[in-house]
Amino acid sequence: MTKRLYYPREQQAGSLECEAQALACRQAEGGYEILLDATTIFPEVGGQLSDEGWLYHLQTGRELARVSHAREDGEDVWHLADRPVEVGARVRVKADEARRRDHSAQHSGEHILSGLASRLFGAKNVGFHMANDYATIDLDIFLSEEQLWALERAANEAVQTDLPTEIQVVDGAALDGLELRKKASGLTGEVRIIYVGGVDSCTCCGTHVHSSGEVGYIRIGSAIKYKGGTRLWFACGMRAVEEALAEKIVLDKLARRFSTKGSEVGEAVLRQGDELAACKKELRHRTEELLTYRAAELLAAAEEIGGLRLCAVLLEGLDMAELKTLAELLCKQSGVAAILLSARDGSLLYQLARSQGVVASMKELCLALNGLTGGRGGGREDMAQGSAAITASLRPQDALEQMRAYCRQALKA
Ligand SMILES: [Zn+2]
Repeated sequence: MTKRLYYPREQQAGSLECEAQALACRQAEGGYEILLDATTIFPEVGGQLSDEGWLYHLQTGRELARVSHAREDGEDVWHLADRPVEVGARVRVKADEARRRDHSAQHSGEHILSGLASRLFGAKNVGFHMANDYATIDLDIFLSEEQLWALERAANEAVQTDLPTEIQVVDGAALDGLELRKKASGLTGEVRIIYVGGVDSCTCCGTHVHSSGEVGYIRIGSAIKYKGGTRLWFACGMRAVEEALAEKIVLDKLARRFSTKGSEVGEAVLRQGDELAACKKELRHRTEELLTYRAAELLAAAEEIGGLRLCAVLLEGLDMAELKTLAELLCKQSGVAAILLSARDGSLLYQLARSQGVVASMKELCLALNGLTGGRGGGREDMAQGSAAITASLRPQDALEQMRAYCRQALKA
């Protein structure tokens, strides 16, 4: 059995260091598992991550082992260490203070957010997950952006007011008579209840700060609709500061780019988005105008074959949509077959189309072109398209010449 000394206020010396005796030591995956008769290293349990820490020689203070994880097994706490420790040895156990402070802050922040979500909006916490670099809370109802802003503001007011954290240890059987925000079910024996000022009350076995002020800062990062409710990502203490700073750096860069203040970047970005949409619309309009002239030129220069006109050309830089528009413009006239190739970004794009009076199958011509270029494409009898990668063995001009010869035959038939 391991005496748990990681909770504050239950030990004069504090909750980070204690003396202990090694009761067992065995090889395990990733190192050695050591059973101690007492520990300040919090094991992974109740949604809270494990502490890390060290074991030192009691007399000399020499480091004996580094503990990377601890786990509960009934009454025992097993410590995963990088080195073995002699069974019977007396050691000094020390938990990593920075990691503990971080976990306690996230955990306490979770109580504040969950307690206030319940008080303000009647939202019930139905899930909590804490990882090394993020923490989430699941609520059973959907909270709007405005509600989340109000929740974040209220949570930080609770931090500013520096509410005391009270721990009460009761017998599991006494839980029924207590009014708590959340009770874990089926608890027996000693049960810990945490109270954060008037904000929260629930059963919890994690480590917490002494008062809400120690949390420092609570920040809701993002939120999504999740299983009919809300999943929100939050950060507390230095995690929250680092997140806020990372976003501020992005905002500062954008503000410089737009020669404006951070608070006005949003408007500037939206304005630029509108301008971009207008530019695209204008570009589309002008491209169509240009393609109309192009179509007239191509028709004037088209090869006449048995009363039909063949427009087979290699263009530079046109994309698929532009090729299609050009083909449609050409095919407004009857008796036209259009074989349009475009070399663009290392690819050969092709669009084939026919208008009324032409019976040659564009689908078949496309298959022939696929064969010539090693490309992929297909379509209907009257319109088909495809593309191929331009390689050393594929010269677009050669492909065009071969297609032209092929089409002359097809149109004559
Ligand atoms: Zn807790």
